[in-house]
Amino acid sequence: MSMLHRDLGVHRAVKTASGLYVGGGWRDGADRLTVIDPATGAQVGDVVAASAEDARASVAAAHAAFPAWSALPPDERGAPLRRAHALVLERAAELARAMTLEGGKPVDEAEGEVRWGAEFLLWYAEEIRRPWGEILASNGPSQRLYVRRRPRGVVACITPWNFPSSMITRKLAPAVAAGNTVVLKPAEQTPLSAVLLFEIFHEAGFPPGVLNLVCGEPAPIGEVFTEAPEVRQLSFTGSMATGRLLAARCAETGKKASLELGGHAPFIVFADADLELAAQQLTFSKLQNAGQTCIAANRVLVERSVLGALGELLTERVRAARIGDGLEPGVTVGPLIDAAAVAKVGGQVEDALARGARALCGGGPVDGLDRDRFYAPTILADVPLDARIATEETFGPVAPLIGFDSEEEALAIANASEYGLAAYLFTRDLGRAHRVGEALEYGMVAVNDGALGWVQAPFGGVKGSGDAREGGRLGLEDYLDVQYLSVNF
Ligand code: NAP
Repeated sequence: MSMLHRDLGVHRAVKTASGLYVGGGWRDGADRLTVIDPATGAQVGDVVAASAEDARASVAAAHAAFPAWSALPPDERGAPLRRAHALVLERAAELARAMTLEGGKPVDEAEGEVRWGAEFLLWYAEEIRRPWGEILASNGPSQRLYVRRRPRGVVACITPWNFPSSMITRKLAPAVAAGNTVVLKPAEQTPLSAVLLFEIFHEAGFPPGVLNLVCGEPAPIGEVFTEAPEVRQLSFTGSMATGRLLAARCAETGKKASLELGGHAPFIVFADADLELAAQQLTFSKLQNAGQTCIAANRVLVERSVLGALGELLTERVRAARIGDGLEPGVTVGPLIDAAAVAKVGGQVEDALARGARALCGGGPVDGLDRDRFYAPTILADVPLDARIATEETFGPVAPLIGFDSEEEALAIANASEYGLAAYLFTRDLGRAHRVGEALEYGMVAVNDGALGWVQAPFGGVKGSGDAREGGRLGLEDYLDVQYLSVNF
């Protein structure tokens, strides 16, 4: 089966690949996934799609590989992760280009994601060498009580399209470092990044069956992942609706479900904040991946006395964005993933405008660009709390400004959400930073910063945003069982 075309000099060559890597080899198949460039609508890829039978074969391969892999010393499990890290960096430009072609992200930003995603490979290769466990006080001279960690077995991973490379490495690296084996289903819209990563994993020398890839239709593959008795854990990143559906199935079959779901981040700016900094960080948070990130600022809560000033600073920055095809030099905001995404964002903006909001900039299509693919970066002022955008995840480049008069009011609005992933607050008052930061019902809170996803930090939510942690020490713990061993001798 042919691998991806390497001729990346060709502007939009159709990449033909197997999306099926099972037991250490690429497989062919009758069905194919067509990969579409969100900037143009052109076909840029064609990937073999897995059937339910292929998914079962991948689970069997992972199950067969588990005993030998989990018995290896941690440093030996780290060796292919370290090699994969080096290979990803070597091929970063190629991976970035494929990501832009299938997901629309501007190519420099895509390369940033590839390099950030690679960090997980190296970090977990090292972290697994550190001590894990406890020795407890015993009840007598001949007794020893140990708490140890052990790998679970087969972990099934499902990832979304908005971070097509790093969401894979952030799951796979800790899962296999811990001694588990993995079956992965990436998003249908972005399989090329996954295929390229698996080419690298193959070259890095993971033993057959340790890592398996099944691109394809979600429902039949998801059924196998949630029903197969060999699968011990499902690690899912995606929407709240799909996460809940899959977690319910895992509950029926007794599997652990680790969920990284959507967000509706409040971004709170107090009057004492550095407004330039807040505007800069908000622009980053809102325009990264055209606003299609789970931790994107979704509600901008601004103390009323600085609403006008912040609105002006933001409008100036957002107007400077260059929108277009992510492969073109200088473009900072690419297309949305598909026409349905554009329609959803447009619907939320129209709803807010109909309820009395005002567009300070944007608010519709971009001149000269396809109205079904691109949406203008938008700032909305006077957004009422009953607007849909005040409660629904947006996943687009729209910042709704909502005024508040007191710390209590800001907190009440911020916490009135079923989501609990990320929150941001900007203030120069250290007491307020702690008080408000601790009172926010969110898994992650950034003070005077718009970024949160560091390799050493536990990324994850509370409430409806799921309870998994990815990154850092806790990201490894998520893939380990606890065993309490009582030894009397
Ligand atoms: P989605 O529709 O839930 O899809 C996510 C993944 O689940 C995709 O691989 C999808 O496959 C698969 N899937 C869908 N239905 C399935 C089923 N019945 N059985 C098995 N798999 C199924 O979410 P999305 O729209 O792609 O991703 C955006 C969402 O992800 C947003 O809500 C965002 O906030 C969230 N997200 C969260 C984090 C985090 O760390 N918390 C990070 C990134 C994104 P197909 O693509 O083939 O449909």
